[in-house]
Amino acid sequence: MNENRDRLRIAVQKSGRLSDQSLDLLRRAGLVFRSSRDRLFLYGENMPVDVLLVRDDDIPGLLVEGSCELGIVGRNVLDEQRLAGADAPAPAELQALGFGSCRLAIAVPDNGLIKNVTDLAGLRIATSYPALLAEWLRKQSIDAEVVLLNGSVEIAPRLGKAHAICDLVSSGATLAANQLHELVTVMRSEAVLASSPRAQNAATAAQIERLCARIGGAQSGDGMRLLMLQAPRNALPAITRLLPSRETPSVLSLDGRPDDIAVQALCSELDWQHLEELKRLGASSLMVLNVERMLA
Ligand code: ATP
Ligand code: MG
Repeated sequence: MNENRDRLRIAVQKSGRLSDQSLDLLRRAGLVFRSSRDRLFLYGENMPVDVLLVRDDDIPGLLVEGSCELGIVGRNVLDEQRLAGADAPAPAELQALGFGSCRLAIAVPDNGLIKNVTDLAGLRIATSYPALLAEWLRKQSIDAEVVLLNGSVEIAPRLGKAHAICDLVSSGATLAANQLHELVTVMRSEAVLASSPRAQNAATAAQIERLCARIGGAQSGDGMRLLMLQAPRNALPAITRLLPSRETPSVLSLDGRPDDIAVQALCSELDWQHLEELKRLGASSLMVLNVERMLA
């Protein structure tokens, strides 16, 4: 911990997709907070832990400089900044938190001109994640141009700024609304607990460990749903890609129906959009059940 502090600091997104669930998780981990007047800080009342409310993009930097020991941030943001920072010390991902699931995916216009990943060679791809995209292209040996856009990436093809995009997708509804569809997943992401790369003294390390254990305990089972559905066997790849699932789904065969399957998946988040999209892919008999207890 910083020499001038005897309290742990954890950075959390101030307002955005991860904010509510991040604070919820910390509350379930047993922390009780009091808000500062400027609402940038939450003082921990029952543990020596304070919460700093910031923009999600600032979280990796706060961890690197040691202003915070822990942070809750999307893996996409964490990995992008690690890759962009080359060999600089980078925050470590301590545990995945099971919310904020999405994927960074390359999407192309519905006009059908780009059919395969190899068709991307020589084309321009717009993204807010240039380092993650460049790394993926390098691994695939695809020579495409990365165009950095910081917002409204999905309209880039229509504006003629790029042929394809690489953006975060959860239900796919935004893509569909822009006449785009997914070509390939670049990475899967969710909110993660990340730690500062700075060396910590023994007392701080012990506090971090205690908080992590509590967060782990608060997380397991909670908010979990079991999704059950039936679908044509050939829809399985598309269905698996869509599921905000924490583990590989179980796939069961159906008696007397060789072309169909039943799927069971443990999911941490499922909204109506997911279900509608699954239905569109051919799924039927969709059912979502609460999970009361789990033992891994
Ligand atoms: P900030 O103002 O803090 O910079 P932001 O606009 O960059 O916020 P949000 O849109 O709130 O960020 O998204 C935060 C994180 O939520 C993303 O980095 C990602 O990990 C996760 N996420 C989950 N689903 C989606 C989605 N469909 N689109 C974008 N992000 C998603
Ligand atoms: Mg941001």
